[in-house]
Amino acid sequence: MDEVIVIGAGIGGLTLGLALQRAKIPCRIFESVPEIRAIGVGINLLPHATRELATLGLEGALAKVAIETTDATFFNRFGQLIYQEPLGRAAGYDHPQFSIHRGDLQGVLLEAFRSRAGADRIVTGRHCLGVEQDDGGVTVTFSDGPGGANRFTMRGRVAIACDGINSVIRKQFFPDEGEPRYSGVNMWRGVTRWKPMLSGASMVRAGWLSHGKMVIYPIRAAGSDGLQLINWVAEIETPTYRKRDWNRAGSLDDFIGPFSDWHFDWLDVPAFIRAADSVLEFPMVDQDPLPRWSFGRVTLLGDAAHPMVPRGSNGAGQAILDARALTAALLQHADPVAALSAYEKQRLEATTRIVLTNRTNPPDAILREVFERTRDRPFKAIDDVISRDELLALSDGYKRIAGYTKEALRSERGAIG
Ligand SMILES: Cc1cc2nc3c(=O)[nH]c(=O)nc-3n(C[C@H](O)[C@H](O)[C@H](O)COP(=O)(O)OP(=O)(O)OC[C@H]3O[C@@H](n4cnc5c(N)ncnc54)[C@H](O)[C@@H]3O)c2cc1C
Repeated sequence: MDEVIVIGAGIGGLTLGLALQRAKIPCRIFESVPEIRAIGVGINLLPHATRELATLGLEGALAKVAIETTDATFFNRFGQLIYQEPLGRAAGYDHPQFSIHRGDLQGVLLEAFRSRAGADRIVTGRHCLGVEQDDGGVTVTFSDGPGGANRFTMRGRVAIACDGINSVIRKQFFPDEGEPRYSGVNMWRGVTRWKPMLSGASMVRAGWLSHGKMVIYPIRAAGSDGLQLINWVAEIETPTYRKRDWNRAGSLDDFIGPFSDWHFDWLDVPAFIRAADSVLEFPMVDQDPLPRWSFGRVTLLGDAAHPMVPRGSNGAGQAILDARALTAALLQHADPVAALSAYEKQRLEATTRIVLTNRTNPPDAILREVFERTRDRPFKAIDDVISRDELLALSDGYKRIAGYTKEALRSERGAIG
């Protein structure tokens, strides 16, 4: 009964489970799907997130399955280099940037949680329907999977909703909130087995949203065939979209047109896209920031609290930072209501800034700036278009807002626990 009930075993829920376990706070995680399988494609973890995961003793396990990303490299749609900067350890951070398959990340977290906390601490096939609370605790109701007929209730000390962008608990507290807000950009995502390009650990952004933008980075090391698993995202301004479903298959013909002449010396983009294992289609969506997340003994975490458009590599990372802050608050405050309120105080404003900046000035603002200044034409020399200082300022501005400048990470108090 004294357990923390964690709803959802995604990136946020599992990290929270591990942080609570490390802090010796009993918890149990309830996950909607009957079996956790490797769904999704690539995710980036920036040094503020990998620092937390290192504190949880996971850096070695992650390094085995991820790519340690060394540089961010920006091109226009003619394949001309705009800007390059080192990332993670290559940039002098104490912790790496990892590019990783979401399934591999979830797998590392899940295995660690099961072996440290015990396999009975995670229950799958439990779809949360809602939560009630009284002075003594919370009662969470579940069905046996989405649409399942059987009902179960669980009592706990507090309930933490880590149930992602379609959070049931968020809907319970904000019933009038509409569907996730479409950014006007649709995404087609996939993975392709391909030979290493550029540094072999580059995060590439190219083009611009109105005419087609690509984000490309490797997420698994090359096997004996010399091919890496390379994640890519094609992003195009598109007036209509279909509701986000992480499993929706996309069609090549819907998006390959704008990239058909992207034949660069570092990559033949159309051939690369056509060689994909499969293509998924997601609309780029977020939600307006909420005025509050904590309601007595219940709070929101990760995408349930602050879904953001994936333009700054911060969705998973901010869920991981939430887990650290919430655990620290529960350790610090004997009163659970005070703990959840302290957590909200620490994280709501910080993540609100990121949600809003991801809409307007994420790192790819560099591409927009060059697109606008060149009127979408090739340039002779990039210095004629934009100075190195301006490029640096655009990049550093986002790091400051998202909380991962080297100075901020070194001056902050310790990580999880
Ligand atoms: C299947 C899937 C694929 C994804 N693929 C990508 C990707 O390729 N790239 C990317 O950048 N981001 C992807 N994301 C989103 C990304 O994981 C999150 O943006 C980020 O990591 C924040 O994590 P989170 O834990 O808040 O949410 P999520 O990682 O979305 O986790 C939410 C978890 O809650 C579970 N859940 C949902 N509703 C209920 C309920 N009512 N009761 C119990 N459990 C519930 C879900 O099954 C899921 O396991 C994906 C998310 C999912 C669920």
